[in-house]
Amino acid sequence: MQSKLPQVATNIFSVMSGLAKDYQAINLSQGFPDFPIADELIDYVHQAMRDGHNQYAPMTGMPMLREILAEKINKLYGRAIHPDEEITITPGGTYSIYTSLATILYPGDEVIVLEPAYDSYIANIESMQAQAVCVPLRFPDFSVDWEVVQQAITVKTKAIVINTPHNPCGYVWSKEDMVQLQHMLRDTSIYIISDEVYEHITLDGRKHESVLAYPELFERSFVTFSFGKVFHTTGWKMGYCVAPKKCMLEFRKMHQFLSFSCNTPMQVALANYLQDETAYLSLPDFFQRKRDLFLDLISALPFTIYNPTPGSYFQLAGFKAIQDVSDKEFAIWMTKEIGVATIPVSAFYRNGKDDQLIRFCFAKKEETLKAAAEKMKRLML
Ligand code: GLN
Repeated sequence: MQSKLPQVATNIFSVMSGLAKDYQAINLSQGFPDFPIADELIDYVHQAMRDGHNQYAPMTGMPMLREILAEKINKLYGRAIHPDEEITITPGGTYSIYTSLATILYPGDEVIVLEPAYDSYIANIESMQAQAVCVPLRFPDFSVDWEVVQQAITVKTKAIVINTPHNPCGYVWSKEDMVQLQHMLRDTSIYIISDEVYEHITLDGRKHESVLAYPELFERSFVTFSFGKVFHTTGWKMGYCVAPKKCMLEFRKMHQFLSFSCNTPMQVALANYLQDETAYLSLPDFFQRKRDLFLDLISALPFTIYNPTPGSYFQLAGFKAIQDVSDKEFAIWMTKEIGVATIPVSAFYRNGKDDQLIRFCFAKKEETLKAAAEKMKRLML
């Protein structure tokens, strides 16, 4: 069969999680927590099922969930979103990004992607016969070089994909970044696909800058959020897209023929659980403790930490002092021989650029992080 994605193999998250399982390694690769979710949230799901919320939800999502999300957005980002017209509940964040791209792209369009980048963006773009124009972020802090981004714009540029806090690097966009983006896109018709799934995981007192807080940006944006990343429920595959009415109308035309709607009892449960804002407002402190513990645990190991991650639940580390090999070789070796699985950062580049970095996920129980650090002590020998 002729492949639509000849360059694409099984994605790195499946590969490394599979390898971790095969070799019984501690899995710090794929981004998911290993601690339990809130009992209250589980109770809400049971309750919703018992109350009979087991049939199709409305295509756009349960009204009670869209309403509480609109309130949350207003409170956090100071923007009045219309819950019926500007929010759609989706089966996960990755789906929301795909559908946003499918809504706007025609063959031959160009989309600017800042690399390293979450692996689905480019595959999505190419599957639509559009072209990803990759712009590198600055090594080693992975900040945005706005001049280089500006130079990548052509008459064919249809959209730019942005991601803050950033996966895999953790870079958190500043106000200045948002202003630069605004300035760059003014007087163009370029759309923004904004991946904000780590919105609540900002560390060291940083604040998340959402395109929702910038009217000029939001009017051209499709913004993706994830319940999986916020409530530790990645296996539920639940997220949402926020976009201005004219964009959302078109997004829904696609969505209704992709999944149509998504999991009803989970939507009811999430709507109830979201009434208590502490569940998400406590996340920066919660993950700050995990990041600090993890950095402390690995501080004596021969990794190079260019900077403590400012956001997301990922920490990058250079390994050249341990082995001067490719990042894929190192990640596979570490899984098999040391018993700790990570993600090689070259997987986030279309051309496989290798800065000899691996990505650790520290969204794990304290005991998991300690056990991983214990295993990695062998790297010092
Ligand atoms: N977003 C998660 C990560 O970067 C995983 C998503 C996936 O497995 N496709 O690890």
